[in-house]
Amino acid sequence: MTEKLYEGKAKILYATDDPDILLTHFKDDATAFNAQKRGTIVEKGKMNCQITVALFQWLESQGIPTHLIEQSADDKILVKRVKIIPIEVVIRNIAAGSLCRQTGLKEGYKLPFSLVEFYFKNDELGDPLLTRDRLLILELATEEQLKQLQNLALEINQHLQEFFSSCQITLVDFKLEFGIDKEGKILLADEISPDTCRLWDKTETDPQKRVMDKDRFRRDLGQIETAYQQVQKRVLDKLGLGDNGG
Ligand code: C5P
Repeated sequence: MTEKLYEGKAKILYATDDPDILLTHFKDDATAFNAQKRGTIVEKGKMNCQITVALFQWLESQGIPTHLIEQSADDKILVKRVKIIPIEVVIRNIAAGSLCRQTGLKEGYKLPFSLVEFYFKNDELGDPLLTRDRLLILELATEEQLKQLQNLALEINQHLQEFFSSCQITLVDFKLEFGIDKEGKILLADEISPDTCRLWDKTETDPQKRVMDKDRFRRDLGQIETAYQQVQKRVLDKLGLGDNGG
């Protein structure tokens, strides 16, 4: 392993011998509420790495370009070097979390259409929700890129909703990040895991028992590792990669 380029809350990015390739290490550290709450989820790095690899490979097979090259260890992936667009793209199918807090919508309300929202990826400012014009004034993306992000987000949502549904999981909402490669192409980057999605077990109706994602940590619901293992198992089993399932 060579030079550490960046350490985030859940991952560390390293340089490799190839300037176009970076290595991402998934950590067991968990944070919530802009890092005001901290903890560790046992084996989270490995689980989120496996889940991300499985979902990114599957999305690639559906025509979505991603930064993933290959998995290089249980908790490490090699990725194409991209310039991360400092926008967190959140897609919501069902009301939960900050949408409920900010609008008064009841948790569980099925939205009449999938909502795509852009948040400023900026810890100091607490990742605020952006309007389209604020985003353009801040020059975080061009109008053309914004359109592409919106379309990619909705396409990915369509694929993931169907996939998770076939795993008996409801995709409530999730966050995506995108990067721009050296040819100027937008690639899906970062991760897709129970850290970045709200996932509800379709076989449970109890509003606490059904939670299979980081809300178990945020809301002190316990059984966090079991929930992540269950997501990993269902995703890998569905893709015929079940041996690694926890
Ligand atoms: O907190 P909020 O309800 O806005 O989160 C919406 C979705 O985006 C959730 O699935 C959450 O896990 C994800 N998210 C994230 N990283 C953030 C903010 C939200 O993965 N910084």
